[in-house]
Amino acid sequence: NISQSAARIRQLDEAAVNRIAAGEVVERPASAVKELVENAIDAGARRIDVTVADGGKTLIRVEDDGSGIPAEDLPLALSRHATSKIDGSDLLNILTFGFRGEALASLGAVGRLSITSRVAGREGARIEVSGGRIGGVTPAASGQGTVVELRDLFYATPARLKFLRSDRAEMQAVTDVVKRLAMAEPYVRVTLSEAGDRPRELFRAEAETGAPVDALRRRLRAVLGREFVENAIPLDAEREGLHLTGFAALPTYSRGAAVQQYLFVNGRPVRDKLLVGALRAAYMDFLSRDRHPAAVLFIDCDPTLVDVNVHPAKTEVRFRDPGTARGLIVSGLRHALADAGHRASTTVAA
Ligand code: ADP
Ligand code: MG
Repeated sequence: NISQSAARIRQLDEAAVNRIAAGEVVERPASAVKELVENAIDAGARRIDVTVADGGKTLIRVEDDGSGIPAEDLPLALSRHATSKIDGSDLLNILTFGFRGEALASLGAVGRLSITSRVAGREGARIEVSGGRIGGVTPAASGQGTVVELRDLFYATPARLKFLRSDRAEMQAVTDVVKRLAMAEPYVRVTLSEAGDRPRELFRAEAETGAPVDALRRRLRAVLGREFVENAIPLDAEREGLHLTGFAALPTYSRGAAVQQYLFVNGRPVRDKLLVGALRAAYMDFLSRDRHPAAVLFIDCDPTLVDVNVHPAKTEVRFRDPGTARGLIVSGLRHALADAGHRASTTVAA
């Protein structure tokens, strides 16, 4: 009987801690893909190639041409709370996707992970971790940059494995994550391929060049299609240090479901009720209740005006002044839509 003899308190070992934390960071293959692609972007990659098999359940491979990881740092990259991105003293000034130093440790706790990497002017090296056990660093042939391979996700946690959806549904979620990040990084080439019996490329966006608004327009054409860009107007508005850019589709291009709504805060894809609500409110006078606006919105601001350390998956943010963020979206979009409507009616009249 538990109440009679109190259980002794023990410190969990690192592998157990990582498995527990992994529950929050890695929900499904798409969350692993997100962490790995974000790492590639943080490493300054110009080229990111993602390969997935069986919806990501058996293989996720992310290859980049970024800075690479020095051989002697490979074991550290896999240990928890180890990061090259912040020094811990300033959690309010985060410009990278990563900062928590737990993605690779988590992935190594719930799958078979290998990292092969080479920094400029050095030999390549490789490390493996499986079920939380980190192997030694061995020399390996490799191009400049990093290849991370994650096999058999959740093989060590069968309960989680059972919650995964069909390969098709997981693949859909992976594609969505890759496309979202591709929108945020128009100057980076991004590909997504499926490995297995019938290998094929699912998505490709070449690196864009030129002014930001042109690069973004072409990138959105690659991701969302020609119809979206031909029916969308560029945004540019500012309010109290928050800057709104992106493209908003004309009301006539609205959808029956909220499927084409993409929000980014300081380049980070987010799902935020406040911002989605503001988007709806902006279109209220232009759309009937059963229609949903399509838009890609970027809010950029000084990193001290928004807290990105709300949840381990880093898809939630908290603005220091939520009212300003909402007002910026509502008024920025309304003005742009009214202008476009005005231009359309004067063109017809002319
Ligand atoms: P975080 O991104 O929060 O720092 P991660 O566990 O995702 O934590 O990565 C740990 C560290 O490994 C990073 O801080 C970085 O130094 C290194 N790293 C991970 N992926 C890459 C990559 N693709 N290219 C270069 N360095 C990487
Ligand atoms: Mg990371």
